[in-house]
Amino acid sequence: MSLAVHTPDSVPGVLAALSEGGLVIAGGTHVMPRLNTEPSDVESLVSLRRAGLAGVAIVDGIARVGAATTLAQLGREPELGFLRGALEAIASPTIRNMATVGGNLFVGQPYGDLAVCLLALDAEVHVAGENERTIEVGEPIAPGELVTAVTFELPGAANWRFTKAMRRRLNSASIVTVAAVVKPGDVRIALGGVAPRPVRARAAEALLTGKPLDREHVEAAAKAAVQDAEPFTDAYASAWYRERVLPVHVRRALLGEEA
Ligand SMILES: Cc1cc2nc3c(=O)[nH]c(=O)nc-3n(C[C@H](O)[C@H](O)[C@H](O)COP(=O)(O)OP(=O)(O)OC[C@H]3O[C@@H](n4cnc5c(N)ncnc54)[C@H](O)[C@@H]3O)c2cc1C
Repeated sequence: MSLAVHTPDSVPGVLAALSEGGLVIAGGTHVMPRLNTEPSDVESLVSLRRAGLAGVAIVDGIARVGAATTLAQLGREPELGFLRGALEAIASPTIRNMATVGGNLFVGQPYGDLAVCLLALDAEVHVAGENERTIEVGEPIAPGELVTAVTFELPGAANWRFTKAMRRRLNSASIVTVAAVVKPGDVRIALGGVAPRPVRARAAEALLTGKPLDREHVEAAAKAAVQDAEPFTDAYASAWYRERVLPVHVRRALLGEEA
């Protein structure tokens, strides 16, 4: 079947094309393989390429990242250097040149490592549609809506933690991903690879609130992290294995231990 591709040059133009039933395509790294290999009733694609949604602005410690910003672009932002390790663990340079921040929110686990980071950062996801609104990472959007940007407070590189267990260095989805912001009295831990979508490790966070980040407390929190996981089996790892190694990776991330 042939597909029409619209390339509107504004957000209202994208929304108008979506109202006629199109599917958003950003980098296409997830959409295109599926359209090429799976049955689909999609008749038109709405590209974000010309919609003016790419770019990063940082003002007073708050970053605003356009939804169509590529992962490669994001990795070149000096003030977002704390994210570089996470970005370099995603796919390969070729994919990162195309894949976008907005697209990463919707790819589903075990992909979506940046979405896990954004959840740990407590990012706001800005949505355009009939009404403009903000949602949390992982919340669904309605048909016809569009993510335009994400905003988050810079955590301070010293307060940032990230680790990803994967089979190979390139093009390997997550077995377990852990991203965390650890500030005195404020610990946010997000998990990837261990549930259908990125999840906050609330039980682990509760055990660390108001506590020193020492081995004893971290080990208890790491064990508790499985309470928020719903591990699954796929080509990368079994549910059993994911559950077994999750506490190890939470502990490593929080204590900054090398694998
Ligand atoms: C070989 C390979 C390896 C990979 N490895 C990893 C990995 O290790 N870690 C990881 O995190 N990811 C991985 N990915 C996934 C890749 O990072 C994501 O596919 C990418 O971030 C998606 O962005 P995209 O712009 O290409 O999305 P697209 O393919 O264009 O779109 C993906 C989905 O998001 C929707 N969408 C896109 N942008 C918006 C928007 N602004 N508003 C609303 N909906 C939108 C689309 O409609 C579609 O449903 C891998 C992909 C490949 C092909």
